[in-house]
Amino acid sequence: MLEQLKQAVYEANLELPRRGLVTYTWGNVSGIDRERGLVVIKPSGVAYEDLTPETLVVLDLEGRIVEGDLNPSSDTKTHLELYRAFPALGGVVHTHSPHAVGWAQAGRDIPCYGTTHADYFHGPVPCARHLTKEELDEDYEKNTGRVIVETFTQRGIDPVHLPAVICHSHGPFAWGKDPAQAVYHAAVLEEVAKMALYTRLVSPDAAPAPGYLVEKHFSRKHGPNAYYGQKN
Ligand SMILES: [Zn+2]
Repeated sequence: MLEQLKQAVYEANLELPRRGLVTYTWGNVSGIDRERGLVVIKPSGVAYEDLTPETLVVLDLEGRIVEGDLNPSSDTKTHLELYRAFPALGGVVHTHSPHAVGWAQAGRDIPCYGTTHADYFHGPVPCARHLTKEELDEDYEKNTGRVIVETFTQRGIDPVHLPAVICHSHGPFAWGKDPAQAVYHAAVLEEVAKMALYTRLVSPDAAPAPGYLVEKHFSRKHGPNAYYGQKN
């Protein structure tokens, strides 16, 4: 079942080590079939070289396994929480890419210092708060998703316009309209996190890029007046 989606999720997972976004098995990609309400995700702890489309796990949005012999990624409940809260998402990715983790471990939003950032992320990439001990004990992975959703809701951020988050003391989640775009955003996030770190190194009190420049760059690629790239 869901052969096309499995192939897309499989290829997106393989893109993680190719882009240098994961070490060992520290990352996972999922994709969703919205019509059927089914999610395809990487199995837990399986090395990327051993991954095949057949080893992927199919679940419903409640986390019940519909197909697959292996346990799903340990972060599955976080993915499901994001799919439930953000209906526009077609793919979700989690990595421990080091520059994004640097900001996450510092507990800092990644400031929008320039146009590379503004082309993809409409404002600073938010750092979601720590879970409380109670939230962690109750359901760590599910509540990680809830705290991400809470961050976007409280700050009034549209997850389509800002397709990534970093979780305090942990690392990034990114998403997109499909699994490939989710990985693309995770790769861009890592580059942007690296650039922001360099900016801070050069000038610890560097100011974010001016709002009108950020708006210009974001609107070149997004929205009704976008004009970046080719028409088709
Ligand atoms: Zn993790």
